[in-house]
Amino acid sequence: MNEFDLIQRYFAPLDVARKADDGVVLGIGDDCALLQMPVQQHLAISIDTLVEGVHFLAGTDPGRLGHKTLAVNLSDLAAMGAEPAWFMLCVTLPAQQPAWLEAFAGGMATLARQTGIRLVGGDTTRGPMALTVQVMGTVPVGKALQRNSAKVGDDIYVSGVLGLGGLGLLVRKQGVRDDEDTHLWLDKLETPQPRLALGSALRGVAHACIDVSDGLLQDLTHVLAASCVGATLALDKIPVPSWRKQLTHLSPTLSDQVALRDYCISCGDDYELCFTAPVSARDEIQALSKNLNLDVTRIGEVNSSAGLFDAQSGQTLVVKGYQHF
Ligand code: ADP
Ligand code: MG
Repeated sequence: MNEFDLIQRYFAPLDVARKADDGVVLGIGDDCALLQMPVQQHLAISIDTLVEGVHFLAGTDPGRLGHKTLAVNLSDLAAMGAEPAWFMLCVTLPAQQPAWLEAFAGGMATLARQTGIRLVGGDTTRGPMALTVQVMGTVPVGKALQRNSAKVGDDIYVSGVLGLGGLGLLVRKQGVRDDEDTHLWLDKLETPQPRLALGSALRGVAHACIDVSDGLLQDLTHVLAASCVGATLALDKIPVPSWRKQLTHLSPTLSDQVALRDYCISCGDDYELCFTAPVSARDEIQALSKNLNLDVTRIGEVNSSAGLFDAQSGQTLVVKGYQHF
């Protein structure tokens, strides 16, 4: 199968209208796609690469990898409060393996259908495996949730439970053990659900927002720096799993609840949203959390002294998280 047949067979089926007026004038097949932006909307655009051995282990299930490659990008749209519209896909593969391609494209297609995003182009090359998606979304002019908009006095919130993906990574590295938690953690690691509904519900409610991909402390620090503010965190309020002795089998360093929490707020692969909002929005945030059936927990507050502090001890928090360089 040549490159064009491969694109036609596996990826062109993802170039399908998700709604009547989706703005695709020309999709896959020409030198460029042509896209019509809706009026009074900004284009929100982001790109993320997954490299074998860095972002996923060799031998990862291709269907789950297809999901994740798109999901981590959708998570960036969620963090801006943007609606998914279009995406591009760049695949670099060492060899052409039909079963792998079929499963990869299938996993991606399922999430694309669920989230209403359409594939409009890409690139296909041979080389060490790397997968890149560029997502494009729309957000009403002036309504995007930016990192630089946290205000002194804001509450700080996080969605979901942190650290599950990170625990999944430990499970993957150790070899799978078959219990309920293990499955949940691996699902969080390999098929994260981007918090798109939360992101769009937070438009006009939250001040600043970021998706937690490299660890809560590190990602929150980006918000604080961009907003020229600091924060205190109530560490015991941060939603993490309860410690159990079995966790020490995954890593001897997970020796108690505090050690587990430290891991969960630094490990990354959460794809939850961390955001700030004025105290006056508390009721509204509680209501939208209930509507979306997604836990949203208040974990701290923004203040004017630069840095990130433990609310209880007043100590500076040491920020650890994933960094490539
Ligand atoms: P060009 O030589 O002009 O760069 P390509 O041969 O790379 O064109 O691609 C042909 C068409 O197929 C283009 O419209 C491109 O966007 C699309 N395409 C290539 N690879 C992919 C892919 N992995 N997924 C979706 N579309 C792709
Ligand atoms: Mg090309």
